[in-house]
Amino acid sequence: MSYSIPFNKPYVSGKELACIAEALNRGKLAGDGSFTHECHRILEERTGCVKALLTHSCTAALEMAALLTQAGPGDEVMMPSFTFVSTANAFVLRGAVPVFVDIRPDTLNLDETLVEDAITPRTKAIVPVHYAGVGCEMDTLCDIAARHHLWLVEDAAQGLMATYKGRPLGTLGDVGALSFHETKNIIAGEGGALLVNRQKDVLASEIIREKGTDRSRFFRGEVDKYTWQNVGSSYLPAEIVAAFLYAQLEDAERINAMRMTIWNMYNERLADLEAKGLLRRPVIPAECQHNAHLFYILLPEGLPRQKVLDGLKEHGINAVFHYVPLHSAPAGQKFCRTHGDLRQTETLSERLVRLPLWSGMDEAQVDTVVAALRTLL
Ligand SMILES: *Cc1c(COP(=O)(O)O)cnc(C)c1O
Repeated sequence: MSYSIPFNKPYVSGKELACIAEALNRGKLAGDGSFTHECHRILEERTGCVKALLTHSCTAALEMAALLTQAGPGDEVMMPSFTFVSTANAFVLRGAVPVFVDIRPDTLNLDETLVEDAITPRTKAIVPVHYAGVGCEMDTLCDIAARHHLWLVEDAAQGLMATYKGRPLGTLGDVGALSFHETKNIIAGEGGALLVNRQKDVLASEIIREKGTDRSRFFRGEVDKYTWQNVGSSYLPAEIVAAFLYAQLEDAERINAMRMTIWNMYNERLADLEAKGLLRRPVIPAECQHNAHLFYILLPEGLPRQKVLDGLKEHGINAVFHYVPLHSAPAGQKFCRTHGDLRQTETLSERLVRLPLWSGMDEAQVDTVVAALRTLL
C-alpha cells in the first residue's frame, strides 16, 4: 500500500548529480579518489577523529572494527540486544560471541551499570549503540573499558552530528562506525565510515579496508609497491557514492536543522499526551545533544501496538517499530548469549513506535500524524 505520509523519504540536496558528473569527468571511478578524500577531510574536521575511512556501509565499518579488535572464536563482545543485526553479525562473522546486556529505560541505550558485572576473562570489547542519536553514558563505559583493557567500539550508525558532553559520537571510543544508509540523516544510498580515534590503529584499519594490503601507503608514496599484509576485505565505496555523500556532507547543517524542526514539533505537540500518561516521549540526558535522527514514542503497557500501527495506516501514515531484540531472533539464540534478564529490552521494544520523520516533511504532515495518534490512544 502507498502511504500519504511515508515513514522515510531520502533527502536530496540538489547538488548530488553535479558532484557525480564531476566524479565522472575526473575519470577515477574506483574508491579512494578525490571525493573520498574530501569526505574524509570533512568528517575529520567535523568530528575531530584521527582518521575517517569511508566504507560501503556501516555494516562494513563494524566488520572492520571486529577485525581490528582481533576478536576470535570464543571471545565475548558485550552489546545491547536492542540494536540492528549488524552490530552482532560483525563479531559473529569472526567466531566471537555477542553477550547481550540490558538497556536503560530512559535512553534505551546499554545500561552501563550492568556492564562491569558481565565481563569475563573472554571479554574482548564493549559495543555501545547510540540509539536515536542519543549518546550512551560514555564516561562510565570509557572508564570500564580502560580498566579492563577492552576495546570500545561505538555503533554510531545513527549518531553523526550528535554529541556527548560536547564531543561527537563515534569519537569517544577506540573506533566508531557511522551509517549513510538512506534512512539516516546524511545519506549516500548505502554508505558508512569508520572513525579511528587512535593513531596506532590507523595503518591497520587502512590495511583491513584495502583487501589486507598496504595500498594506502603506496598511494601516499611511503612504499614503492604494495603487498598483502594482513586479513582484510574490500570495504571502500566507489567514487560515485563518495561524490553523492560529499554533496550531502556540504549541506549537513541545513539537512539536520530540517529534521530538528520536525522533531521539536512532535515533542511539543505530544507533551500533553505524555502528561496524561498516554505515551512517553524520548528522554535526552542533559549531557547529550541529539541529532533528531528519529522520533519514537513508548505506548503505555498493555496497549496493543499493532492496533496503533494499523490505525495510523488507515490514516495513510506509515509508522514502524524497532527492534525485534536480537536475543529472541533465531540467529541470536544460535550465536549469542545473554547476561542477566533483559527485562527492559523485552518490555520497551514491544511498546516502541517510530513516527515518520524526514528532512522536508512539513508542519501540516506533523499535525496529521499527531491528530491521528490522538484518536488511537
Ligand atoms: C543503520 C544501522 C546499522 C547499519 O547501517 P548500514 O549502513 O545499513 O550497514 C547498524 N547499526 C545501527 C544501530 C543502525 O541504525
